[in-house]
Amino acid sequence: MAAEQFDPNESKYAASARAFRDNVSRDLGNDELRDNFRGAMDYLMDKRTKAFVDGDELETLREQCKLIKQRCLLKLPHLLEQLEENLQANGIQVHWAETITDANDIIAQLITEKNGKTVVKGKSMVSEETALNDYLEERDIECLESDMGEYIVQLANEHPSHIIMPAIHQNKKQVADLFADNIEGFKHTTDVDALIGEGRRVLREKFCNADVGITGVNFAVAETGTLCLVENEGNGRMCTTVPDLHIAITGIEKVVEFLDDVPPLLSLLTRSATGQLISTYFNMISHPRQNDEKDGPQEVHLVLLDNGRSQAFADEELRQTLQCIRCGACMNHCPVYTRIGGHAYGTVYPGPIGKIISPHMLGLEATNNLPTASSLCGACGEVCPVKIPIPKLLLRLRKESVKPANDETTVMKGEGSGRKKIEAVIWQGWSLMHKYALIYNTSMWFATRLRKLMPKKVGVWTSVRTAPKLAPKTLHEKIKARNKTRSAQQQNTIATQNIGGK
Ligand code: SF4
Repeated sequence: MAAEQFDPNESKYAASARAFRDNVSRDLGNDELRDNFRGAMDYLMDKRTKAFVDGDELETLREQCKLIKQRCLLKLPHLLEQLEENLQANGIQVHWAETITDANDIIAQLITEKNGKTVVKGKSMVSEETALNDYLEERDIECLESDMGEYIVQLANEHPSHIIMPAIHQNKKQVADLFADNIEGFKHTTDVDALIGEGRRVLREKFCNADVGITGVNFAVAETGTLCLVENEGNGRMCTTVPDLHIAITGIEKVVEFLDDVPPLLSLLTRSATGQLISTYFNMISHPRQNDEKDGPQEVHLVLLDNGRSQAFADEELRQTLQCIRCGACMNHCPVYTRIGGHAYGTVYPGPIGKIISPHMLGLEATNNLPTASSLCGACGEVCPVKIPIPKLLLRLRKESVKPANDETTVMKGEGSGRKKIEAVIWQGWSLMHKYALIYNTSMWFATRLRKLMPKKVGVWTSVRTAPKLAPKTLHEKIKARNKTRSAQQQNTIATQNIGGK
């Protein structure tokens, strides 16, 4: 698939999100891509089902985790301060970034202060959000992705198409071709173990020589000042122990209050994401290398990024978006995502979670098409481990995007940007018609009589559908006619009975 280049400049992300409809047409026409997604999503859905054999246990855990996340969000400002205090007491330095540029600047400065030239990066969607690789490369700092899926998309000059499985859009033959084109001495094979072995060989060399390790964070524990990192390949542990400088980056919503909050969230995360009872690695980072320790970084830093999250936080309903633990289950079960794939969204986070979080990051001007790309079937909300009511939030975002200009409540950047005058007038007419019986009846009378004038093609609606045919009579007319017939029949019956009686 042709790769779109993302610059750290926010407007570039916005531009690719704006091109959503064109992206969809392009990817729906790619049979190989659709096959790759269908197969992968079926596999992941099956794994999740097998991981939750006890439906009651699943529902209890979902409710528990929803309440944990809601409690933590309710106390978010306080917990962030507590987290900072405890991390600093542990020797981990904390940096606050309001925008993606702030985050990139902070990270670049930390690296240049140490004369760093090479970075190995563990999987981090927040660093995708800031387009960190491009930013560092522009400053002559090599940044190598060490998660196998991320490494593949980096080689292909693409961005992840799934938040858990970044290269899920590629099949093994495509990966083999990619390695053959990019790795010297690679003997072409489609054997998956051999492909992984080859990737690991390249990465191991890089780990040994890297100046800096960058990772994401799954849970930041305020109570203890601990950064938790969930992974399967061991690359996260290498990034956080081998280089002398470890920089973690995460969104402000990842803070949890207590260490005890982590096990239920972890259990739901791994089972919802990949159907695993537990991930292969679970890292807890509480401080830099101590005097009596043989490995570990000399310095650990945490960058806490806002990038629109405060906007979601400010609204009680939209705040639920921040409950997300990035498991990807909503994407795996979404009939839209399964068909169009992840790149069509044009945003860092695709699928249902992308549709509800991207408007806060990029503004509704760029993303107002995304909440409409849903059949509202409800599958995403049903599988979400922390019970985010995604369909309800999609409706709310649709409403925000068509808000009238004279609406004085400001909730979101870009609200009202999807409002079209002609559409607004039509809906006002529709509402008026349903308020007054006379207007309704007159309009229906005309509509049914003039039905032959109805166009056979009505824009995109009829590009894949047959235009509806108006019935010859309205429902009211039919009921009136039926009542008339019934009453005539009753009159006849009474008359017959009367004659019989005489
Ligand atoms: S919205 Fe729910 S299902 Fe989707 S990624 Fe987030 S936690 Fe998982």
